[in-house]
Amino acid sequence: MVDLIQAIYFVAAVLFILGLKRMSSPTTARAGIVWAGAGMAAAVIATFFIPHMSNFGLMVAAIIIGSGIAYASGKRVAMTDMPQMIALYNGMGGGAAAAIAAVELIKGVSHSAIALDLAVLGALIGTVSFSGSLIAFAKLQGWMKGANRFPNQQAINVAVFVATVACGVFLAFVSQHPLAILLFFALALAFGVMMTLPIGGADMPVVISLFNALTGLAVAFEGFVLQNAAMIIAGTVVGSAGTLLTQLMARAMNRPISNVLFGSFGGDGSAAAEGDAGGALKPIDASDAAVMMAFASKVVIIPGYGMAVAQAQHKIWELAKLLEERDVAVKFAIHPVAGRMPGHMNVLLAEAGVPYDKIYDLDEINSEFETADVALVIGANDVVNPVARTNPDSPIYGMPILDADKAKNVIVIKRGQGAGFSGIENALFFKDNTRMLYGDGQAMASELIQGVKSF
Ligand code: NDP
Repeated sequence: MVDLIQAIYFVAAVLFILGLKRMSSPTTARAGIVWAGAGMAAAVIATFFIPHMSNFGLMVAAIIIGSGIAYASGKRVAMTDMPQMIALYNGMGGGAAAAIAAVELIKGVSHSAIALDLAVLGALIGTVSFSGSLIAFAKLQGWMKGANRFPNQQAINVAVFVATVACGVFLAFVSQHPLAILLFFALALAFGVMMTLPIGGADMPVVISLFNALTGLAVAFEGFVLQNAAMIIAGTVVGSAGTLLTQLMARAMNRPISNVLFGSFGGDGSAAAEGDAGGALKPIDASDAAVMMAFASKVVIIPGYGMAVAQAQHKIWELAKLLEERDVAVKFAIHPVAGRMPGHMNVLLAEAGVPYDKIYDLDEINSEFETADVALVIGANDVVNPVARTNPDSPIYGMPILDADKAKNVIVIKRGQGAGFSGIENALFFKDNTRMLYGDGQAMASELIQGVKSF
């Protein structure tokens, strides 16, 4: 029986990996989620048959309550609220790994010294990820504002971290006294909160991705303690995927992780205003913008966070189809960090039915702007700000951007003079070839549709 259970865990782990592989492309992502879900279901069912397993009532109750909450919240969550949803789920994963460690430490990890060390290490990482993710959730949900800083914060954080590690070393090498276990978890919880407090709300997606990687690692360590192959493999996969994602996001924003964790940028309004863009903003109304697009040969549409806020993706796709009927070539350009999490825009456009072959990455599309008659920017800001190329003093200098400014004409849909995530002025908006179409993304897309239809 034990061998059969291990074999099922192994199959589950293979399904996780294959599922993750399929999630890397929008066309296969849905199937990938089903594969990984099937793996999880197999692992959960196999767990019921582990010899000497007890507390079946509690296990079933936990599964029913957990699945119910996940199903209800998954159905209701808006795309713009996805980052905080992920923070919450991620925190639960870290918390679960820490809870396993707590039980094992109280019972006394006996099968090897290395298992005890890993239990403590997993407990530390999982607990920090748990409390840190909850703070990240609160910030993204708007329950906590910006970066919460106080005097000597870094020194205090270092002191709490050192005390936590010292307590962990005591548990691993000296004694697993219940008071030491309690103190260790209390310190680790406090450290997770304190390391997340000073980070601005706008940096939270990167931090969540980092916590995600840490949760994976914690699960892998606890899998070793429980000698559960599925947990070891799944945890390692999540850990490495989370690490890669964190790197990708930091690179796409041209910021080292250390700057995200210990610097200040965006969200708290601390970023310096650029103020040197010069010139004046030139408004345009929807009917004039519609003429420009209707008589263009090539239009590149650049969606950003504001399109998600306005839920304008369906209207934008309707507009694109109308233009295509008039033989206008339409392409969508996606920046890797447009929106508030990687893939944010791809998911929205896919939801609206935009075919994948019309969606281009930064590297694929940037050379095409020079031949585009119109670049239509909807709710995007930082990801098209040319100061990232031109002004070494800008906080976003070096961040790869979509070269919308190189198009013959640029139309920017946004509600007003609001800054983007980084809080700086956008030089694109002041360029001679740029016109501002002020209004909510969805309303303006509807007006453009009416405008194009009238020809
Ligand atoms: P930005 O946040 O830079 O800009 C969004 C713009 O949308 C704002 O200027 C706002 O202007 C406008 N807007 C807001 N609501 C609406 C609406 N209802 N209708 C029309 N416009 C609206 O978005 P980008 O997508 O360009 O850039 C993403 C930023 O987020 C980057 O700086 C990136 O580094 C950062 N980030 C991204 C992550 C990711 O993984 N994707 C992770 C972490 C950070 P106004 O208020 O005037 O309407």
